[in-house]
Formats: sequence, C-alpha cells, structure tokens
Amino acid sequence: MAMTHTDPVCGMQVDERHAGAKSTYRGQTFYFCMKACKEKFDANPEKYYNPGGLAR
Ligand SMILES: [Zn+2]
Repeated sequence: MAMTHTDPVCGMQVDERHAGAKSTYRGQTFYFCMKACKEKFDANPEKYYNPGGLAR
C-alpha cells in the first residue's frame, strides 16, 4: 500500500516515495510533486495550509 498525500499547491496525489520535495509546517509534513510546488508553498504556507482539507 502506497502512502499518498495531496500536494497542497496543485492538488495532485503524491506518493511519499516519489515525492519531488517535502516540507514541514506547523509540525505537519507536506509532500509535493516537484520542487516548484514546494517553493510556492514555502513562500506562502498560510495560503495553502488547510488543516481539515488535508485530512486524508
Ligand atoms: Zn504539485
């Protein structure tokens, strides 16, 4: 079973093992399909940070 996460920037499902990048914000780890998404997230995490919405 693959661990997938939703890329908060583009909304893609990202397999943990194939993530292009990851970032930790407020104690939560976020996975991104590519570095460009991480850079957008890091530049403005509050815009993408959405507790409830990422609950799976
Ligand atoms: Zn992405």
